[in-house]
Amino acid sequence: MRTVIVGAGQAGRRTAELLRGLDAEREILLIGEEAEPPYDRPPLSKEILLGEKQPPGLMQRAAGAYAEQRIELLLGCRVTGIDLAARRLDADDGERVPFDTLVLATGARARRLRIPGAEDPRVLTLRSMADARALGARLRPGLRLAVAGAGLIGLEVAASATKLGCLVTVLEAADRVMARCVPEATSALLDGWHREAGVALHLSCPLLSITPGEASLRLSTGLGDIEADLLLVAIGAVPNDELARQAGLPVEDGILVDESGRTSHAQVFAAGEVARIWRPALGQHVRYETWQVAQHQPVAVAHALCGAERPYDEIPWHWTNQYGRNIQLLGAHRAGLEWIARAEGDRQTVIGLDGDARVQGAVLIDNGRDATPLRRLIASGKQMERARLRDGSVALRQLC
Ligand SMILES: Cc1cc2nc3c(=O)[nH]c(=O)nc-3n(C[C@H](O)[C@H](O)[C@H](O)COP(=O)(O)OP(=O)(O)OC[C@H]3O[C@@H](n4cnc5c(N)ncnc54)[C@H](O)[C@@H]3O)c2cc1C
Repeated sequence: MRTVIVGAGQAGRRTAELLRGLDAEREILLIGEEAEPPYDRPPLSKEILLGEKQPPGLMQRAAGAYAEQRIELLLGCRVTGIDLAARRLDADDGERVPFDTLVLATGARARRLRIPGAEDPRVLTLRSMADARALGARLRPGLRLAVAGAGLIGLEVAASATKLGCLVTVLEAADRVMARCVPEATSALLDGWHREAGVALHLSCPLLSITPGEASLRLSTGLGDIEADLLLVAIGAVPNDELARQAGLPVEDGILVDESGRTSHAQVFAAGEVARIWRPALGQHVRYETWQVAQHQPVAVAHALCGAERPYDEIPWHWTNQYGRNIQLLGAHRAGLEWIARAEGDRQTVIGLDGDARVQGAVLIDNGRDATPLRRLIASGKQMERARLRDGSVALRQLC
């Protein structure tokens, strides 16, 4: 039995190792197009840019650990096609790679701007170690850095670059920062941190075109022109689902899979950020762009590959670090929730209730200890008393 995993990122590495733990005999081949063995991406926009962590510290395993686990690691190799009938992959070096079962763990790539001037070499994105090296090498005091997009990565880079002495301008098309994943009050808080640190933050300000000059880039926005030395485009991620689409597997902004990570083909699975996972409680498929899904959904995939069912069922969670502050996001952040804040000095927890006063989501600001009771409250679907929830002197665990 030979399982081939395409994509040597976090989800690919996790699937390989979990699978080895469940099956000592099987051949496992992990193929990745990047030059590096699997590494963690979250530090790319934080510690790596700040020079607080060097690439070896990002590696998820020491060199040699893969061979010890009898996981064959093939790096610098891009898979270009899948022949499902022949159970064979095509690679960019002309190799044909046979498989019995296949896992697509190809992650996502940075979304590009499709506007004039976007091909200039001073327009960068941040997804990989190579991207972080290229960006980090150019950040220096006084550099005029423009960031298009005030989402998680754009704001983290803005915070890191400001700390390095860059003059940072953030351009956001929406009317508040991180609008996709936090309530208005949290957007306002983050907005304040950035402005206080000296970031020029322009909201409702889409980037319309880039005019590359010899000395700088001229950025035309809805609110006038801005000069920048460098532009980071941080406007979201696009799943690398083309291999699945070409092979005829169902794809809808991500590869559609069941709770075990299985595609419509019984021998083909998808793991991590590229997967759009069936969530029965929500009655829909959902794709998550988080460290958590890459870490935990492969448990379901590895079990299913061994004939056991361990459906993926987790309350979504992710985090961001900016200006030394930690923000954790739990559960759903959909429109229409009523948000209740519990503050204790600088720590704050904001809890989202639905119309039946059930906890659906939460934002924890330097307050990670609230995560466990909140997970319980979300999972239980218990109706809450608003007054007790608001009362910071009542510990959340007492409300579970
Ligand atoms: C800068 C940055 C900061 C982040 N910060 C946070 C954070 O603070 N908190 C959080 O929760 N999440 C964060 N994330 C998100 C998190 O890191 C990702 O969700 C996670 O890396 C997804 O893992 P993955 O293995 O599914 O995909 P990836 O890590 O993208 O791995 C997929 C791999 O497959 C390779 N590949 C793709 N196509 C092919 C092919 N055809 N052939 C061979 N190889 C291929 C890719 O090159 C890549 O190496 C961050 C992401 C980035 C980019």
